[in-house]
Amino acid sequence: MPTRKVDYLLIGGGLASANCARWLREEGADGSIVLVGREPDPPYNRPECTKAYLRGEEAREETFFRPDAWWGEQDVELLLRTSVTALDLDARTAKLSSKDEIEFGQVLLATGANVRRLNVEGCHLEQIHYLRTLGNADAIREATKDAEHVVLIGGSYIGCEVAASLSKLGKRATIVMQESATLERGFGASAGRFFGELLEAHGVTVYGEDELERFEGRERVEQVITRAGLQLDADAVVIGAGVTPDVQLAQRAGLEIGERGGVRCSALLESSAPDVFAAGDICEYESPVHGGAHVRIEHWDVAFNHGKTAALNMLGNDAPHTIVPYFYSVFADWGELEYVGPAYAWDEEIVRGSFADGKFTNWYLDAGAVKAALTWGRSDDLDAARRLIVDGAPLDDAQRAKLADVDSDLDDL
Ligand SMILES: Cc1cc2nc3c(=O)[nH]c(=O)nc-3n(C[C@H](O)[C@H](O)[C@H](O)COP(=O)(O)OP(=O)(O)OC[C@H]3O[C@@H](n4cnc5c(N)ncnc54)[C@H](O)[C@@H]3O)c2cc1C
Repeated sequence: MPTRKVDYLLIGGGLASANCARWLREEGADGSIVLVGREPDPPYNRPECTKAYLRGEEAREETFFRPDAWWGEQDVELLLRTSVTALDLDARTAKLSSKDEIEFGQVLLATGANVRRLNVEGCHLEQIHYLRTLGNADAIREATKDAEHVVLIGGSYIGCEVAASLSKLGKRATIVMQESATLERGFGASAGRFFGELLEAHGVTVYGEDELERFEGRERVEQVITRAGLQLDADAVVIGAGVTPDVQLAQRAGLEIGERGGVRCSALLESSAPDVFAAGDICEYESPVHGGAHVRIEHWDVAFNHGKTAALNMLGNDAPHTIVPYFYSVFADWGELEYVGPAYAWDEEIVRGSFADGKFTNWYLDAGAVKAALTWGRSDDLDAARRLIVDGAPLDDAQRAKLADVDSDLDDL
């Protein structure tokens, strides 16, 4: 028997849930709102875990979505250190790890993602870390305080940002990755080489086309051994080998899972069950700005905006999610990468500006149409990029030449 009843149950203590709570109230919802989150901290800006917070330049409270008092002022109840363990969508009830059972009117699933773990020999040695939470960032900061050599496994944005942060703190950071260039999987080899060279210019060592074979050490890790035979000294290791959407609860509740592994949703972010919404990393939604294709994106800005769209639709507004997904990544204080897209596949890249000058926009086209754009030092190009992605029309040769020409006005396209 349910122990209590709430109007809006938000499952997951991340940004998507937090912003949903905020917009429910901003749009006038006067029913009860309960947000259930497994972590001990209230919702916070997870990206800080690789950036200022990791470097000790930002206090824990500064990463919080809102100050503690705000939740009470908004009459949003936070149940932290608590998991939802089961959902019964017919009965509209949720079981909690606290043994309570909640009956709900509408529910948002925003359970985020889990890190992909690498089960190799030596993986249980001390000082081998993954990074998803503030608690993980605390542990890495502590482990690297007196460390000289830190090895990062993986060349995606987690490995690159942590390497940049640690190098700023004076550590010797080494990246080992399967790709030939950092960030290559998302942004291609040319842009990837730019980021690899940037890291190397700041003292980071990068080994591509290789992979982790095993860890060696007595109690704690001492060496990383790679498949190509490298033996790298390591006082600590941070693994950034990707994430998988945490859809266990959704799956057990019988919700439809899409091809990209997320909870399959409409453009309103409603799942296969009525009054059940999904947002953030787990949400695989029909995207009007991608011609109705289903996309699933693990970006901060997407989680944030999904929260608002879900709130609007919980309130019956019929508001499709029409925002072009945006991603940013910060390399210490050297610069910021920004990206709109995503391009899952492309057959042409056009550079506006130049990698050599450290100021460029790299356009990703498929069959002549812009699918994505990556910028470094040229944020002003992003609005045009969003417009071209939504428009989706193939560009002719003259138009493509304009993309490359820094003196051309993109508004003319
Ligand atoms: C270290 C790091 C750095 C990042 N940097 C960037 C960046 O620079 N730019 C960018 O665009 N994106 C970045 N991201 C990605 C971005 O942070 C995520 O896309 C975003 O946080 C997703 O928000 P979410 O609300 O969907 O999920 P999450 O933030 O993962 O929140 C989900 C929460 O729900 C909890 N939960 C799961 N299951 C249950 C359950 N059954 N019951 C209760 N609680 C549950 C989880 O413990 C978690 O606290 C970064 C991510 C990480 C880990």
